[in-house]
Order: sequence, then C-alpha cells, then structure tokens
Amino acid sequence: MTSASQETKVPTVTLNNGVRIPQLGFGVFQVPPEETQRIVEDALEAGYRHIDTAAAYRNEAGVGAAIAASGIPREEIFLTTKLRNGEQGNAKEAFSNSAQALGVDYVDLYLIHWPVPSQGLFVEAWKQLEMLYADGQARAIGVSNFLTEHLDMLLAASDVVPAVNQIEIHPTFQQKELSAKSRSLGIAVEAYSPLGQGADLTAAAVESVAGKYGASPAQVLLGWHLAQGTIAIPKSADSTRMRENLEAVRLTLTPTEMEGITALESGGRVGADPALASHSQM
Ligand code: NDP
Repeated sequence: MTSASQETKVPTVTLNNGVRIPQLGFGVFQVPPEETQRIVEDALEAGYRHIDTAAAYRNEAGVGAAIAASGIPREEIFLTTKLRNGEQGNAKEAFSNSAQALGVDYVDLYLIHWPVPSQGLFVEAWKQLEMLYADGQARAIGVSNFLTEHLDMLLAASDVVPAVNQIEIHPTFQQKELSAKSRSLGIAVEAYSPLGQGADLTAAAVESVAGKYGASPAQVLLGWHLAQGTIAIPKSADSTRMRENLEAVRLTLTPTEMEGITALESGGRVGADPALASHSQM
C-alpha cells in the first residue's frame, strides 16, 4: 500500500514497560459494524498504524478483517481493545472472545473500559489482565475512565502499574489533575474524544490558529494534544478527514497559541461520568 500520508511520521510514546505506542491513533467508537472493515482499511491506507476499538463497540471483527486485508505485518500495527463492563468477572474469557473476533493472537494494549465502581470488580479484573500480560497475550495493559480514587485502589492491590489511562480530554474538558496524577505514576495519558466529538472545533481560539496556519480546526486541536505528550485517537468515518487528522503531526503551535486553547476549559464532559457509569452501560 502506498499513499502520500504514509510518509507522515507519527511520533511514538514509550509506555512504562518499554512498549512504544504511536501518539496519534484511529478510534472506531460509533463506527457501524458493517462499515468498519472499509473505514479501517481507509485508515490503514491513510497511514494510521494504531487502531482503538472495544468489545462494547461490536466492531472488532471489522477491525480484524481490515488488518488482515491490508497485508500490513501484524507487528507494524498497534491494536487496542477493551474489556466490556459486564465481563469484569470473566476477563480472561472476554479477552479470548475479543482476540478471536479480531483474528489476532495478541493485542498491543488491553484496557479495562470503565471502573464501574458500583460493581466492585475492577481489581479482580486487573488481576486477570496481569495474567494476560504475563502470558504475552497483551503487550501492555491499562485502564480507561479511571479517576484518582480508582487508580489508588488499583495500585494498592496490584503488581503491574497500568501503562495507560484512556480518558476524555479536549480543550473544554481537560482533566488536568487526573492527567498529572496519572503521569506522576508513570501512566501514559491517552485522550479519547480528542475533538470533543466535534464540539470543540468551532471555538474561536481554535479557528483563529487554524486560519493563521491554513490548517483545519481538527488539526489545531490534535496539535494541541500532541504538544502535551498526550496520545490522541480521533475518529472519522470520512477518508479525507481521517487523512487531515493524521497530518496534524506536522503542526507546531506557539506557547501563546497553546495557552489560548488551554483557556477554553469549561468543565463540560461530552461523555459519561466514570463515577456514575453503571454496569448496564456497555
Ligand atoms: P472525536 O473527538 O474523535 O470526534 C469524532 C467526531 O468528530 C465525529 O463526529 C467526526 O465526524 C468528527 N470529525 C473527525 N475529524 C474531523 C475533522 N477533521 N473535521 C471535522 N469533523 C471531524 O470523538 P470520539 O468520541 O469518537 O472519540 C474518538 C475515539 O476515542 C473513539 O472512536 C474511541 O476509540 C475512543 N473513545 C473511548 C471512550 C472510552 O470510554 N474509553 C469513550 C469515547 C471514545 P466524521 O466521522 O463524520 O468525520
């Protein structure tokens, strides 16, 4: 496969176990299962080498089919999937089902999708992820939507520090304290909904920087994430927009431009609150 964007050099972040993750990846939340293979093939063709899915997205089979059809060697693709909330008591079997759907014998990163504190199962689930990691079935293990108290509980009971905490981050909802706490523990921060599901694209501070560089608002938002060392996994079902997003790695913002975008914090989530997310959710 060749494409102009394949020349795009995506930086990597080195996780706390030495595994390297491409800092800009491709998310497939809300990509319909029947369209997933084509869309992920487009993303791979565009040059993405990091794909983020989850059992709960019901599109792992399409991701796997795209990886197989691409002919790209498995070791050149960083593949993340996540443990469904209702399977926290049964993580090893859930992992096997995901690996089977994906058509792979290992994943690069396996995450607990939500803590679901009301279930009281995430420490037990983590013990099973530790076994999958020890077996080499997951090259790295981590968490998603973990707040400070969930990280503290996990670390008090665990041998392996999560490699990643995947959380909602975009300029209007930055979770600065949680990011700093995660980083201080050696946990890499991965931004989901990095464009605020599109809501942050129209902020005046973003549009003015975009205008200055002849860039798109999405590129400015992604450039803002990348400059902070954050891993970002934007989703786009459109091959032009997915290519545009990948090109964000070429953009460098000045400190003043970074500050102008950081000042957009408003405390408003676009996703669910992990303290409340219930068992029935996914
Ligand atoms: P994003 O912030 O990535 O925004 C996606 C939206 O932005 C879509 O509507 C997309 O539309 C639009 N968009 C993308 N690129 C552009 C562009 N260049 N210009 C204009 N609009 C654009 O939101 P997501 O919630 O999808 O988050 C990304 C990924 O994060 C998910 O796919 C998933 O992998 C992960 N995630 C993880 C969660 C978790 O609990 N761990 C929760 C939520 C997300 P279009 O497709 O039409 O281009």
